[in-house]
Amino acid sequence: PIAEATAQTSASRQAKVVWGGRIVTVGGGAPVRIQSMTNTDTVDVIGSAIQIKELAVAGSEMVRLTVNTPEAAQAVPHIRDQLDRMGIDVPLIGDFHYNGHRLLTDYPECAQALSKYRINPGNVGKGDKRDKQFGLMIEAAVKWNKAVRIGVNWGSLDQALLADLMDQNSRRDSPWGAKSVMYEALVTSALDSAQQAVEMGLDPNQIILSCKVSGVQDLISVYRELAKRCNYALHLGLTEAGMGTKGAVASAAALSVLLQEGIGDTIRVSLTPQPGESRTQEVVIAAEILQALGMRSFVPSVTACPGCGRTTSTTFQELTQRIEAFLRAQMPLWRSKYPGVEKMKVAVMGCIVNGPGESKHADIGISLPGTGEAPAAPVFIDGEKRMTLRGDAIAEEFQAVVENYVEK
Ligand code: SF4
Repeated sequence: PIAEATAQTSASRQAKVVWGGRIVTVGGGAPVRIQSMTNTDTVDVIGSAIQIKELAVAGSEMVRLTVNTPEAAQAVPHIRDQLDRMGIDVPLIGDFHYNGHRLLTDYPECAQALSKYRINPGNVGKGDKRDKQFGLMIEAAVKWNKAVRIGVNWGSLDQALLADLMDQNSRRDSPWGAKSVMYEALVTSALDSAQQAVEMGLDPNQIILSCKVSGVQDLISVYRELAKRCNYALHLGLTEAGMGTKGAVASAAALSVLLQEGIGDTIRVSLTPQPGESRTQEVVIAAEILQALGMRSFVPSVTACPGCGRTTSTTFQELTQRIEAFLRAQMPLWRSKYPGVEKMKVAVMGCIVNGPGESKHADIGISLPGTGEAPAAPVFIDGEKRMTLRGDAIAEEFQAVVENYVEK
């Protein structure tokens, strides 16, 4: 027999990201978490709070925001207040670079209002200053009992470490290629910083690691190595993935390979939004990746054929779009009213070739009439043909059948 393919479960440590009564567990067998990042100016308290709310409502379980100046640090507790007033308890992650040690020390209200600090070991300082500045950030995390993501990025890799590894490599009998040295530098930077944080008193269970790169094969290579060498919870993401389809596909390709192997406890799809595109698109795509892999379910899935020369009209595309939009719109209410509804499968098919078969595999499916077929659309429920829809109101009637099915 052919074994069923399923994604492995991560065997990493479990970190807890907490705000108020809400605890988001990351790793240790918890569901893979979705996170996102704002692109508002953090100083704009209302604009940032609104975008964080949108991201949270779209399904982001943690939201990161940049904390780059004293003004931004001062704004963070006010953003938190606004969110709490709106009933949005999503934990906030502060993204710190260069001056994080000062901001976390000088603005304790900011340090408290955040649930997790992202520290980039590549830019916490150079030479002797590095340890001191890194130490101040870890001290804040210990003092306020916060999780920390040690987030290495190959765009801001610790240059001293890289130079040292290149030097060591040049003295090997058979030196590694340039890419291998780069991979090693990324992984070493993350692991050494984590070790240093633990020695400074941070609970290893409050550490999450990431090593982001922008190439799909590079990301797979680096994370396989990282997962082999530690059991910290891992944050996955292809950095600078790009715009639109390119970014979405590259992220899906890289993340899927790793998630299938049980590598990754939280993900972000870093998309450059198209002009006018909502920031929430990255959350929708992250959710689609997890759902496509069968790791989590968020909304009922709609199976639809691509359509072809046998498809008679645009009714088919319109019906697919309508049902998808309808299901998504109902979810905030349905999720609490009908537990498990997110696992439902609906099929919308264009003709008799695969229509009845695919509809029978779904919980509820419709096979629209193709070229040369009688103008009738059989509807299948739980694998059996239950009715046939005809006429101009097929879309409305099928939507009502779906609604009725969920209610029952
Ligand atoms: Fe074409 Fe029918 Fe296949 Fe859809 S199910 S792609 S309409 S042959």
